[in-house]
Amino acid sequence: MSIDSFEIPNVFRVDQVDAVVENNKIYSIQLRCPHCSALGTFGSVVGGLRYKKRKAISSSYDIVTAAVRMCPNPKCCGLVFTITSSAQETLSVSPPELLECSFEDVPAAIAATLKEAIACHSAGSFRASAMMVRRLLEELCEDAGVEGRTLHDRLKGLRTKITLPEELFNAMDELKALGNDAAHIEAKSYAMIDREEAELSIELAKEIVKARFQHKSLVERLKSRKTTGAA
Ligand SMILES: [Zn+2]
Repeated sequence: MSIDSFEIPNVFRVDQVDAVVENNKIYSIQLRCPHCSALGTFGSVVGGLRYKKRKAISSSYDIVTAAVRMCPNPKCCGLVFTITSSAQETLSVSPPELLECSFEDVPAAIAATLKEAIACHSAGSFRASAMMVRRLLEELCEDAGVEGRTLHDRLKGLRTKITLPEELFNAMDELKALGNDAAHIEAKSYAMIDREEAELSIELAKEIVKARFQHKSLVERLKSRKTTGAA
């Protein structure tokens, strides 16, 4: 069931209150925590509210449950507000679930942009997400000290400045086009930017960031074990 199957897709709007539900009657659900990014089983902390939502097509309704839940990671204990269907499907999570990503060894400005791209995606702002990924390309060029009149020129220059697999440089050209379409109404390479495009562009951006900043530091950490580790 998706929220679009309701007459009023806004699941925060109650058609008719059904019952207040005790804590132990609320099923746990699997979520990726928006606060710590860990996958976990989230139980309810204070009970919840059950209410009816009329369906858009038939005259029937579903009984949905609103509840406050807590992240099971003891270092996090982050709270989320969820709305689930009668079949335990997650209809809404606030704050929204985030795509998983590691920011270790990534320069602060680039990490901040990638985080913003992920936040835009989680909020359903897919064009804004694509624009952030394009900005990340700008920052990669700046970080490598590449200059040029346009981003196209700078990405060309980047190929001569840093070592990355050819596929990732090609990916940058695609991401540039996507971000360009997101920013300009006359753009035409991509018909639209939906959840999937936004998600793929973030996955590619993560691979680029990983290859540029994180592989090297893993190798360095391994190497440092040779001199500092036990004989
Ligand atoms: Zn958490």
